[in-house]
Amino acid sequence: MESTGNYELDHIMLTREAVRERVSEIAASISDEYRGEELIFTGVLKGAVIFMSDLVRSIDLSVDTRMDFIAVSSYGNEATSSGAVKLIKDMDTNIEGKNVIMVEDIMDTGLTLSYLREMLAARGPATFKTCVLLEKPDRKKIDSTMDYTGFAIPDKFVVGYGLDYAGKWRNLPDIWCVTKR
Ligand code: 5GP
Repeated sequence: MESTGNYELDHIMLTREAVRERVSEIAASISDEYRGEELIFTGVLKGAVIFMSDLVRSIDLSVDTRMDFIAVSSYGNEATSSGAVKLIKDMDTNIEGKNVIMVEDIMDTGLTLSYLREMLAARGPATFKTCVLLEKPDRKKIDSTMDYTGFAIPDKFVVGYGLDYAGKWRNLPDIWCVTKR
């Protein structure tokens, strides 16, 4: 994916209805697993905001649900391939001894998520799981799998439902493929 050039919306890959249905299925599984316990959802800004806000509203009220956020940015091209990310905003919560689910919009190579997972898991949470809305199996460079995945998608650049292109299109209710104009 080039970082310059003009892209336009091509077609819808996942409708809002499909996303809504899958999000409530994931929420039901999480609710079953954490009933009666405290659970801290940690969203990776900014892409995960919309997914996470829908997800937490579908979590059963018997789960003591908390929200926190972390913000990262990739280093230059070379460092991106190592998955090293710069921490822009850390969590406010001390997660030692807590149940944590890290929430991301999309896993491409998986390097960002595995870097973050290592960083947060080192803080000694009681349990640590990962939840990603989209994953691109063809692009995956890491071995580990996510605990909760919404959809496996083909190697296409997508926007909408929190995902952007150069800051645009996060607010689209459906998930779209973009194409070069
Ligand atoms: P990874 O470290 O898994 O290769 O990169 C993950 C990050 O790349 C995501 O958090 C997201 O910011 C960006 N990314 C990867 N694929 C896409 C895509 O199809 N659409 C958008 N909007 N961002 C993507």
